[in-house]
Amino acid sequence: MNTAFKDITAECLCIGDELLIGQTINTNSAWMGRELGLCGIRPVRTRVVGDGEQAILDALQSVQTDIVLITGGLGPTKDDITKRCLCSFFGTRLVPHAPAREQIIRLFGQRGVPEPEVRPADLDQALLPESCLPLPNPLGTASGMWFERDGRVFVSLPGVPYEMQAIMRESVLPKLCALFRPTAIVHRTIRTVGLGETVLAERLAAWEDGLGKDDIKLAYLPSPGMVKLRLSRYANADARAAQAAVDRQAEALYGLIPELIYGEGEVELEEAIGERLKQLGQTLAVAESCTGGFLSHLITTVPGSSTYYIGGVVSYANAVKMEELGIPGDMLALDGAVSRPVAERMAEGVRAALKSDWAVATTGIAGPGGGTPGKPVGTVWIAVAGPGGTVSAKSIFTGSRKLVITRASIAALNMLRKQLGRPGN
Ligand code: ATP
Repeated sequence: MNTAFKDITAECLCIGDELLIGQTINTNSAWMGRELGLCGIRPVRTRVVGDGEQAILDALQSVQTDIVLITGGLGPTKDDITKRCLCSFFGTRLVPHAPAREQIIRLFGQRGVPEPEVRPADLDQALLPESCLPLPNPLGTASGMWFERDGRVFVSLPGVPYEMQAIMRESVLPKLCALFRPTAIVHRTIRTVGLGETVLAERLAAWEDGLGKDDIKLAYLPSPGMVKLRLSRYANADARAAQAAVDRQAEALYGLIPELIYGEGEVELEEAIGERLKQLGQTLAVAESCTGGFLSHLITTVPGSSTYYIGGVVSYANAVKMEELGIPGDMLALDGAVSRPVAERMAEGVRAALKSDWAVATTGIAGPGGGTPGKPVGTVWIAVAGPGGTVSAKSIFTGSRKLVITRASIAALNMLRKQLGRPGN
């Protein structure tokens, strides 16, 4: 199996004291690992070292992979010593690089700083090691740098995530693919919502057992309320056959859990819902208690959401539930704010008030206080009101206050998704 497979390995070397002390989360290595994997390059190690010359040199000397991607420490301040270390490691010196200087002047010009006023420390960013191939940074002043030695590639990139990503996409990944010609990987990532990883895995056990015969690997990638299922297979010589095998298994998966799948690839649940509402030409309103506006926030992160999202009421206090949404005071007294009747009336109330086709409501106890034996922390009632009537359900979410709010918002979107139905239904 996989006789044509080329094992190209990579290491991420992330530099910065702030990473070691937990002030900054090392998202760069996660992002780079994912992108490398998608190209068929195998990330085998991530190391984090502080802003110390010896530590950086030691790390460079002990690299064993085909590729090392270095991030951080390229800035204009004194603690940014990566360039100095690279010069010492490659036995080279810093020389002026005209295109990098032009880019710095252009960037400052865009911010209204004319060339004579650009600080010398910022212009020094255009001094680059003589033996490197500079990689343009379209979004910042620190250029990327590409070195080759003994068959290994060393790439140094700025620590700022969006600058690093831009240089990776525009220069590094295309160059690595051209140089190493890694065995391509065929992927499909299918997004599910509504079942936890363990229960989902139980449901898919028999199907999963059959993936091996197609050389397909399955990864479960869980996040609150959702699980992404990534199917992947090395393409070897026959990319089309690999794609067909992955597609066949993906189709089988759709047959097994059609009600749980809301999209593929990078599509978010709120985007899938937005697409469906646009297709239907219908509108949405929201009444939120325990989610405090987070549900509306998710909905409005989608570009173009103004075509279907009318607005929402954050009805935290009972007075707002009564005055803005028309919930009767005796219902609140009798059933409590966290109850089926109140959730349903919230959805119906905001639907009527904002004249939308659909409305979603959440009411619950996000914690950490406020729970009772009958209604423990994490109890959330969700309701969806639409043209065909109102549905509601209770869930008990675990985790911190933030997690309960996130999980409740995802569950609310999921209930709406189910009511909207799939295209063709
Ligand atoms: P600049 O040219 O802006 O100074 P730099 O290459 O010197 O960039 P750093 O100073 O090390 O990079 O970091 C710049 C910013 O990027 C900081 O806010 C830092 O917290 C963040 N950053 C650095 N490394 C990482 C990483 N591995 N993951 C996520 N963020 C990072």
